[in-house]
Amino acid sequence: MVATPAWPPSSLPRLFMDRTLSEGLALTLDGAQANYLGNVLRLGAGAEIKAFDDRTGEWLARIEEAGKRKVELRIERRLREREAAPDLWLLFAPIKRGRIDWLVEKATELGAARLVPVITRRTVVERLNLERLRAHAIEAAEQCERTALPELAEPRKLDAVLKAWPEGRSLYFADETGGTPLVEAVQPGPAALLIGPEGGFTDEERTAIMAVEQAWPVSLGPRILRADTAAIAALAIWMSVAGDWGTEARR
Ligand code: SAM
Repeated sequence: MVATPAWPPSSLPRLFMDRTLSEGLALTLDGAQANYLGNVLRLGAGAEIKAFDDRTGEWLARIEEAGKRKVELRIERRLREREAAPDLWLLFAPIKRGRIDWLVEKATELGAARLVPVITRRTVVERLNLERLRAHAIEAAEQCERTALPELAEPRKLDAVLKAWPEGRSLYFADETGGTPLVEAVQPGPAALLIGPEGGFTDEERTAIMAVEQAWPVSLGPRILRADTAAIAALAIWMSVAGDWGTEARR
């Protein structure tokens, strides 16, 4: 039996709108988004796109008018509610520019709910361009069909994060010197993965981390992974065991 293709097709262009969307809402796009729809994709009046706002979900929208610099849109109907992202935080020591952009993109695709840059003793990169990282998270969410953006927190010092550790949230501390394999350590419930800098954690930092009641030292195998590799591996393991990768695929 020929399967009825899903409507609207997932191939429709998909854009994040940083405002609350609703049925019948008229929107004027300019700048990069107008250029993308009008000049790059050459869409005209009547064309459909998908839009999401990280607040109310994903909507079907129709182009009413497309000019060189402006595109007039009308929001038609809601396609999906905002996703309930699994309650997982990724705490990571900032790494060099290209790699951190990649890390934010991949952590968004893999489903992290919150990204927290933590400044550790051996952190080499202290200043972060959060605007640029947010743009990478938005692009990744547009591409992987997320309806919720990961929250991108301001960088904080590791010891401040540990001092204010929230009740009831497990802290899986990726420790290259050894620990329980992450796949065995993961328990259901709110969680955070902590990934160290390329230079690793100091012994004092290890002691401070292990002083947190909900902290678990976990291993990601016998090899020393680069920080961004360790983050991706840990996200994939947690999502498989306690995240939403066990749920029915969307289509
Ligand atoms: N400086 C350390 C060394 O040379 O031994 C390596 C640090 S590693 C490049 C960066 C971070 O990735 C570590 O702090 C740790 O959080 C994580 N990591 C790397 N390999 C790991 C492993 N096999 N198990 C657990 N965590 C790992």
